[in-house]
Amino acid sequence: MALLVVGTMAFDAIETPFGKSDRIIGGAATYIALSASNFVQPIKQVSVVGGDFPQEELDELQNRGVELGGVQIKKDQKSFFWAGRYHLDMNERDTLDTQLNVLADFIPVVPDSYQDCEFVMLGNLMPSIQHSVLRQLKKRPKLVVMDTMNFWMDSAMPDLKELLKHVDVLLVNDSEARQLSAQYSLVKAAKHIMAMGPKYLVVKKGEHGALLFHEDKVFVAPALPLEEVFDPTGAGDTFAGGFIGHLASTGDLSFNNMKNAIIVGSAMASFCVEKFGTTRIKEISKEDIQRRIGQFAELVNFDIKLI
Ligand code: AMP
Repeated sequence: MALLVVGTMAFDAIETPFGKSDRIIGGAATYIALSASNFVQPIKQVSVVGGDFPQEELDELQNRGVELGGVQIKKDQKSFFWAGRYHLDMNERDTLDTQLNVLADFIPVVPDSYQDCEFVMLGNLMPSIQHSVLRQLKKRPKLVVMDTMNFWMDSAMPDLKELLKHVDVLLVNDSEARQLSAQYSLVKAAKHIMAMGPKYLVVKKGEHGALLFHEDKVFVAPALPLEEVFDPTGAGDTFAGGFIGHLASTGDLSFNNMKNAIIVGSAMASFCVEKFGTTRIKEISKEDIQRRIGQFAELVNFDIKLI
């Protein structure tokens, strides 16, 4: 089943305790599409880039079954740019710079050929743009998943809350869940957020895994204990790509399959952090993914007899 993805396609500059990168390719929609393309094709991308965005990167996405008819190229402008620095505790990062550039006056246009998408991933982006994409779809998709971040909570909370009413699954990290709900307990935060619209909430906790909430149910997925986390940039988006990619490829929206989707997302994210930027996520094979999902199953598999 076709998947529509909207989000940033960007240049990033990253500093981690292990090193520093100059401008490398990043962006939420880039990571989502790279990750999801292992599970579902076609992916129909909506985004905007400047004339500085390398053609090879666009070609590579196309070779992976990503359609770019909805990606505007503004030849005379610069692509979105983000710079961030990670602490030794890589769950903590500071945004050093966010330059909207082409994003500042971006009006997304969803091509007619995208109307068949039953799965929609609203990647991290200005909430009003995410909403505009959703409004352009003539038929309500089967599943709408949304990601966002503190930047938009600080600058566009009313728009974000309006959009939440139309979303099935929200993906955020723990501090964002707390900020959005004004609750410290994640269980209380989940109740508050699910009352805002989403039926499902996924709370990502970096190296501590992820939680899935739905009604009164909770599921916990671990993160793979890795000796070295090189660069966590894009891990959230890569998670999102694996999560919705699995759901779109199976078409099964039961709670049980959502659990599987969380494991697939976690497995994909565990690759992403192994190298800088998109490097690792571009080089892995289907076999690598299968093997890693197997490792996740082992990680939490136990057989206990209750007395
Ligand atoms: P993640 O590490 O999964 O949260 O996502 C990192 C990616 O998000 C980077 O590649 C950035 O280009 C992109 N990004 C950073 N800030 C924003 C923002 N305010 N809106 C949209 N995308 C962003």
